[in-house]
Amino acid sequence: MQLEIYNYNDIIVEWISYDQFNDIKELGKDELTTTIYSAIWKDGSLNYDENKYEYIRNQNIKVNLKSFHNSQNITNELLIEIKTYFNGENLFGISQNLETKDYILVLQNIYCDKYVEWIPYDQFNNIKELEKDEFTTIYSAIWKDGPLNYIMEYYDYTRKQNKKVNLKCLHNSQNINNEFLIEFNRYSTRFYSYNKFKIFGISQNPDIKDYILVLQNVYCDKCDKCFTDKYGIWCKSCQINDIEKNITNWTSGNEKIDNLIQEMRLKINNPYDIVFEWIPYDQFYDIKELGEDEFATIYSAIWKDNPLQY
Ligand SMILES: [Zn+2]
Repeated sequence: MQLEIYNYNDIIVEWISYDQFNDIKELGKDELTTTIYSAIWKDGSLNYDENKYEYIRNQNIKVNLKSFHNSQNITNELLIEIKTYFNGENLFGISQNLETKDYILVLQNIYCDKYVEWIPYDQFNNIKELEKDEFTTIYSAIWKDGPLNYIMEYYDYTRKQNKKVNLKCLHNSQNINNEFLIEFNRYSTRFYSYNKFKIFGISQNPDIKDYILVLQNVYCDKCDKCFTDKYGIWCKSCQINDIEKNITNWTSGNEKIDNLIQEMRLKINNPYDIVFEWIPYDQFYDIKELGEDEFATIYSAIWKDNPLQY
C-alpha cells in the first residue's frame, strides 16, 4: 500500500500500535463480524505540509476503529476487505487489540460528531421555501442557537449561533410512520459516503404538526440551487462567475493564450481544483535559476499574491 502513493494528499497507510488510542467508545456492531469504535489517535496521521514540503503529524485526531471478531488468523476475506478500504481512500492503517488479538482497521472518522437533538420550531428565523415534491418540502432557515460543535482542545461542546440549515418537512407525518423513520435513518449515524448530508436534529411545525428533519445547508446562497460538489459546500456556476469577477481586466496580450486560460478554467469541477490564471511577471520575486537545457530555463520564485483558494 505504501508503494501506491501517487499524490501528496494520499493517505500513508501504516501499522499503528494499539496504545496510540485514547477515549475508545463503541459506536455499534456493523455486521455480525465487526464492531466499530471511535477513538482519539494520539500521534495522528501523516499529512503533507505544502508550505514546509514535508510530512507532519496531525495529533489527537478522531478516528474510527473497525475491529474484526476472531481475526487472529488473517483470512483472505480480511485482506480483501482491507484492500477495499484502501481504494476508498479513508484507511489510515492497521492495528491489533492487545488482549483479544483481533485485527483492527483504523479509518477516518465518518460518524456524526453531533448529537441529534430536539429543536423547537421557534428557533428558526428567515424560513424560505427551496423545493417541494409530493412528500417533502425543503426550506432554508437560520437556526438561532445553532448546532453543538465539539472543541477538541477543551473536550467540550459549544454552539455555533445563527447557523444556516435546511429544514426537510415531511408531509402528513403527524403520526410518526415508517416513512419518517426510514428518512431519519438515512441521515443518522450512517457513513458520509452513503449520505453527504449531516443531520442536526428533529423539529415540528406547531401549526400543521408535520415533523421536520434539520439538516446541513446544501443550497447555494446566491442561486438557491443545490450545491454541486459531493461535500455539499460549493456551487459550480456561482463560483465560476465569482472567479471571473475577481480576475477582471487581465489579458496575456495573445488571443491563443487567453483562450487556453479560459478553457482551463471551465474544467474546474470541485472546490479543490486549481484556478488557472494569467500571472503578470511583476508578481514574482526571489527568482533563482535552477537549471537549463536547450529549450528552456527553470527558475524558482515566490508568487506574491498566491493562488486563489476556496
Ligand atoms: Zn449558486
